[in-house]
Amino acid sequence: DNVFIDGIVVVVVEVEMFVEGFELQANMRILITGGAGFIGSHLVDRLMQNEKNEVIVVDNYFTGSKDNLKQWIGHPRFELIRHDVTEPLFLEVDQIYHLACPASPIFYKHNPVKTIKTNVMGTLNMLGLAKRVGARILLTSTSEVYGDPLEHPQTESYWGNVNPIGVRSCYDEGKRVAETLMFDYHRQHGIEIRIARIFNTYGPRMNIDDGRVVSNFIAQAIREEPLTVQLPGTQTRSFCYVSDMVDGLVQLMDGEHTGPINIGNPGEFTMLELAETVKEIINPKVKILTVENTPDDPRQRKPDISKAKELLGWEPKIKLRDGVPFMEEDFRQRLCVPKKA
Ligand code: NAD
Ligand code: UDP
Ligand code: UDP
Repeated sequence: DNVFIDGIVVVVVEVEMFVEGFELQANMRILITGGAGFIGSHLVDRLMQNEKNEVIVVDNYFTGSKDNLKQWIGHPRFELIRHDVTEPLFLEVDQIYHLACPASPIFYKHNPVKTIKTNVMGTLNMLGLAKRVGARILLTSTSEVYGDPLEHPQTESYWGNVNPIGVRSCYDEGKRVAETLMFDYHRQHGIEIRIARIFNTYGPRMNIDDGRVVSNFIAQAIREEPLTVQLPGTQTRSFCYVSDMVDGLVQLMDGEHTGPINIGNPGEFTMLELAETVKEIINPKVKILTVENTPDDPRQRKPDISKAKELLGWEPKIKLRDGVPFMEEDFRQRLCVPKKA
């Protein structure tokens, strides 16, 4: 009798293990906050390619748009929710990519108090959610945590040079607090965290008039307007194409390292060099005009990506010269200005 009963017990346990294992493999429910934005919508495209993923996007459409997600609306594995992350959110998910936050200076300076709330209260709410359901959470932090850096290139161990009371502080300091919250929830509550420090990213679906330098220059070149280089023009940035960025974020999320890890392209350009490059590729006839700059503009920025290479096996593949034409094509379509034969 005992043997018979043991036999049944063993069989039942095996069936349960099989069912649990099957469920785990079959479904990964992934929340993307800010998924209607530029990087977020490309991340949605990438994650939707895997048939085992269910993707939920939460966005308040401040700088994002449903248009960026139109190919997924109505798909059985996709859900779109209008929600502001400064309010609590109750969902059941396995992973959270927390991107919600305006990224362009003109938008994050538009309502700085709201920008801080989004970074602090928004990240707190997503951490509360991660804690309740045991989800892994990735924060898209920024190279702006290094401020106007005194170390070049920037490694993750550099603590930064940030003005706490300037017009950019709502974003820089907001992200710094968000990183602190991530590590405190990790240490205090054992939450699985990942932090990406993203450097300037460009590509299709950027807001055409969001004031960022690559989108400005490409739109200006297409509209045959002068390219506005802000003084002194010798300040540098390093630009990462969006598909490389999305690869880096997914590899960080699915890997074993908390970060912070710099994700960016180390190819460094002055703003004058960038203007020359865009001019040459898109419209050699346009003029380059120097204009006033805004306060606290960092003079140089270039990621040290040794950690991403070593720990994630990641490095960017697309050079600026190869990425600009993809963005030009997208901007021409949206601006209804076809390329001249
Ligand atoms: P984006 O402005 O295109 O996307 C941000 C998205 O978040 C938008 O869809 C917006 O509507 C949404 N959002 C903003 N506030 C919200 C709120 N309170 N509640 C819900 N949704 C909200 O910007 P992006 O370039 O895609 O940037 C995505 C993330 O990457 C941001 O966290 C940004 O800080 C970070 N980042 C971007 C860059 C870059 O160069 N693009 C560089 C460093 C860091
Ligand atoms: N929270 C949320 N969704 C959840 C769980 C929590 O939005 O599923 C919010 C909650 O409203 C709180 C924040 O996350 O404002 C932090 O939650 P936590 O449980 O860590 O802290 P507490 O509620 O104890 O302040
Ligand atoms: N910039 C410029 N012309 C423009 C917009 C920006 O020369 O039309 C410069 C700006 O002064 C800064 C750099 O480009 O030095 C990058 O600015 P952006 O707003 O794109 O990004 P961030 O300052 O956040 O890196």
